[in-house]
Amino acid sequence: MKIIKIAFILGNLNFIGWLGIAILAIREKEKTAARRSLLLACLSALPFWMTPILPDTIQSVWSVGLLALTGIFIGILFFPVRAKSNFVQNIPDSHRFDERETMFSRAELRPGSAEYDHYYRNYPGHKAPDDRFRQKPGLLSPDARFFHLEYFSEARYLFDQIAAQRDGVDGPVTPQKRSISPENATQTLKIKILQSGAHSVGITRLKPYHLYSVSGQGDRYGLPIDLSHRFAITFTVEMDFDAVAHAPKAPAVTESARQYLNSGQIALEIAREIRSWGYAARAHIDGNYLLICPLVARDAGLGEIGRMGLLLTPKLGPRVRIAVVTTDLPLIKDTYTPDPSVEDFCRKCKKCADNCPANAIPKGKRETLHGLQRWKINDVHCYTYWCAVGTDCARCMRVCPYSHPNTFFHNVIRFGIRHFPVFRRFALQMDNLLYGKYPKPRSF
Ligand code: SF4
Ligand code: SF4
Repeated sequence: MKIIKIAFILGNLNFIGWLGIAILAIREKEKTAARRSLLLACLSALPFWMTPILPDTIQSVWSVGLLALTGIFIGILFFPVRAKSNFVQNIPDSHRFDERETMFSRAELRPGSAEYDHYYRNYPGHKAPDDRFRQKPGLLSPDARFFHLEYFSEARYLFDQIAAQRDGVDGPVTPQKRSISPENATQTLKIKILQSGAHSVGITRLKPYHLYSVSGQGDRYGLPIDLSHRFAITFTVEMDFDAVAHAPKAPAVTESARQYLNSGQIALEIAREIRSWGYAARAHIDGNYLLICPLVARDAGLGEIGRMGLLLTPKLGPRVRIAVVTTDLPLIKDTYTPDPSVEDFCRKCKKCADNCPANAIPKGKRETLHGLQRWKINDVHCYTYWCAVGTDCARCMRVCPYSHPNTFFHNVIRFGIRHFPVFRRFALQMDNLLYGKYPKPRSF
């Protein structure tokens, strides 16, 4: 009798667990997940609830069977096997990327200008694909497919604000150096950044491969980049989950602009503060970078770079924007501990690649590029799509299983993904089952 009671209680717990997931999904406005969780709550509890109506002779056997199956299932999921991993310590060689090759720089080239002629003389293979994105309406264009007057107007306003910030990334340094220990400086700055609304913050030594070799922006176009700062302070700000859930439609690009502005304001403020202490400091913000933010953030221990080429952070996945402040101020650097589970999960997942409307994310293995093992996205395909729809898409960010809100439930799942290889496959299947393999953009 005791075993029958235990099985019945387990059935109730199962039901309550799935019901809890359904309530959470309703709060997150994930209607499909809410409906499917409710269905799973009933289906998974049914075999346990059936026990009392079975003939007395088989009730005990049935209950033992259910308990054994549950135990075996949980045991397999959380069995601490060592996953076969292709993980290698991923440090680029001495190569530095030329910013002029980025799509943002190429998009600024004006036909007939000296820069335009020079670029396509050096990269003739880029001309035809670039001409294709130039034929599209363009980012935030009224002719773009996902044009929306209010959202695009707001995004334009925010991007204008960001543009107005760009000249303030550097400035005069107070001649008198303030006496502050690296420990104190590190703690003070980290607290200030987090209190300003950042989600995570880290510090690394600035390395040559973090920096672009040649600038591809504004007045500095074509000039070699030479920055002798010793440290890089980097932080992430969260992109609103609901706005990103609309991707690739207009609310997503407005949220991008808002968080670029937000992160830029924090970076500017921190750089100003450090300069007031008598040390050189430069903010690296949207449209005025000297370095590659995801690489800096990875080395500062904020996450790993995933299949979609973005930083995957432990609690928000790719649903962040990054800014950096480089400085001469002596600081205590954070330790980057490689997390092989991300590479393993991305290898199994491919959800971003399957959902990318531009087919820009590779579905195969990582390739080695200048000593760095990575999935290389097709930036021309991606940017051409942006120019057609008028937004910065973010569909990959929306569908990534790491992107769910920073709540206890989702963090438990992310913990399982990180530590239990078998659980990764289960988590992926459940993500597809609850949220859909091809989730629709949220409507507005
Ligand atoms: S932003 Fe959109 S087009 Fe670009 S890689 Fe992500 S899903 Fe593909
Ligand atoms: S969607 Fe999947 S494959 Fe793509 S970055 Fe996220 S976890 Fe990796």
